[in-house]
Amino acid sequence: MSNYHIKHLEEYYQVYRKSVREPENFWEEVAEEHFMWRKKWDTVLSWDFSKPEVKWFEGAQLNITENCIDRHLATRGDKTAILFEPNNPKEASVSISYRELSERVNKFANVLKDHGIEKGDRVCIYLPMIPELAVSVLACARIGAIHSVVFAGFSSTALSTRINDSQCKMVITSDGSYRGAKTIDLKGIVDEALNDCPCVETVLVARRILSDINMKIGRDKWLQPLLDEASSVCAAEVMNAEDALFILYTSGSTGMPKGMVHTTAGYMVYTAYTFKNVFQYREDDIYWCTADIGWITGHSYIVYGPLANGATTVMFEGVPSYPDYGRFWEIVEKHKINQFYTAPTAIRALAKQGLEVVEKYDLSSLKTLGSVGEPINEEAWHWYNDNIGKKKSPIVDTWWQTETGGIMITPIPFVTPTKPTYATLPFIGIQPALMDENGYEIKGNQVDGRLCIKFPWPSMARTIWGNHQRYKDTYFSAFENKYFTGDGALRDEVGYYRITGRVDDVIIVSGHNLGTAPIEDAVNEHPAVAESAIVGFPHDIKGNALYGFVILKDTGESRDHTNLRKEINQIITEHIGPIAKLDKIQFTQGLPKTRSGKIMRRILRKIACNDTSNLGDTSTLLNPEIVQSIIDGAKDSK
Ligand code: ATP
Ligand code: MG
Repeated sequence: MSNYHIKHLEEYYQVYRKSVREPENFWEEVAEEHFMWRKKWDTVLSWDFSKPEVKWFEGAQLNITENCIDRHLATRGDKTAILFEPNNPKEASVSISYRELSERVNKFANVLKDHGIEKGDRVCIYLPMIPELAVSVLACARIGAIHSVVFAGFSSTALSTRINDSQCKMVITSDGSYRGAKTIDLKGIVDEALNDCPCVETVLVARRILSDINMKIGRDKWLQPLLDEASSVCAAEVMNAEDALFILYTSGSTGMPKGMVHTTAGYMVYTAYTFKNVFQYREDDIYWCTADIGWITGHSYIVYGPLANGATTVMFEGVPSYPDYGRFWEIVEKHKINQFYTAPTAIRALAKQGLEVVEKYDLSSLKTLGSVGEPINEEAWHWYNDNIGKKKSPIVDTWWQTETGGIMITPIPFVTPTKPTYATLPFIGIQPALMDENGYEIKGNQVDGRLCIKFPWPSMARTIWGNHQRYKDTYFSAFENKYFTGDGALRDEVGYYRITGRVDDVIIVSGHNLGTAPIEDAVNEHPAVAESAIVGFPHDIKGNALYGFVILKDTGESRDHTNLRKEINQIITEHIGPIAKLDKIQFTQGLPKTRSGKIMRRILRKIACNDTSNLGDTSTLLNPEIVQSIIDGAKDSK
């Protein structure tokens, strides 16, 4: 198991150095020892960031489902692969063993084939977090069809745009979905979307909420009867290392989503290797990532990474607030969760509820906590650390992107000493660089700049579907010979990285570059503040000034806003300096968020600049109704 499972800091540095000095040798060893290949590669890596073109393990042949399923059958056939926890706690959870998963995936794969799906065809999956979602993803991979999972909270327009962009031949959906106390008519949304999607020939419909729905004759088919008829043997398609495995659209925080294309071998090797190390997964652990498979986090760290390691991975259908805000902790107790991976937006929402709902449950099984999606502010970090991890479960603040396929900067639990708000050290094989405005790399510590990666890693996206030029322009044009992440970061005195926000959001105030994350972090330290977002607006003297949108905690008391404004600026002065004081503070009930829970700052920026005539693409917003109330409230901001 050389190099595969890092156990102490010394070893991290040693393995890291090797991975940087001899990346080809390093990844070749990992690939050779821990995966099942039909044929080994001829070349470990070839790359040219100017084209850009990156190829890992060229010449190799494999099928990722043989690595995620078949090879475990001899030793882990009866082990639970997927543990399904339904929306309603009164409904029984379901354990799917590796053997059952194998049968279900093979049957599903045969159904796909029977409906004319071949290697390279695109299949859109629009399903709630039910086992069919993971099974259909794997069934596509089994036969070499390219899956494009669209988060089942997206609107019909967002869905049809994505279906058309990649010309999907089939859509897999369900009659509906449960979301807390509500049901959602998924099939109705699909029907509406498909009015604009002539490329779709077949719709497979899973039964979930037993609702009455329209079935279009010739196009729509109930899934279960087809599965019942299908054979449970389906030979895995032999894939080339660089064949596309899936397309996944970015969350759309900054504009029109991009259809990132991930390929087979490198993605498999990197997600499996990171899963093992970043969560310190041991054979009998129960691992739970609360993300939806509709996001990259779910692809890499609910499905592929865990299953490639023969792990038990939990799939949760519901929401953190149903039937009450104790639901996450109830599940941790019920399934004795060992690794728990969630997002800062969820942590903040749960922290707002107080401790009563936490203290009812036994969380002693937890060993590692994870965070992903946004910078985690200091207050939320401490709440998570103190009340959930009880100061004994390290928090891994994992920075990565849809584009990177896997975790890039992160502590390794029990190995890397953690530091609140810091994603800490680059993962094995990752070579970050901080760049200045003029395109030069900033060396040394205690510096900040634009975060780039200067050497390829196995799971990087290879292109944007149908638009290689956009891929090049977005990621490889800002800095020569480097992948540009779009995020800003600082490196502290020991070399730890802190993500300071998106570079587009950096605000230049009187010549100082201010990232949004550290200021929001300071604002959130105020005991009355639940959440905040900072943007810039033009200012005659300073060039730009800062505008804060602040959500207060719901305590039922009324508050003196003038005093609050002073206190918030006082905290900012103490934490960062008077330069970062907010010129305007608007108290609001909510913030515009993407469906993955991220603040959409570009909309706030427009409101702050009083330029609300064209807010751009808002189809990925979770709560479009909040926008008007913020616009109205802006008039009263001071
Ligand atoms: P789009 O690219 O369409 O605007 P998006 O960037 O939100 O959407 P994702 O790929 O889901 O889409 O998110 C990646 C981004 O999330 C990162 O670039 C970074 O800004 C942020 N992020 C993710 N994890 C962390 C983290 N641990 N700390 C700070 N920021 C993070
Ligand atoms: Mg992005």
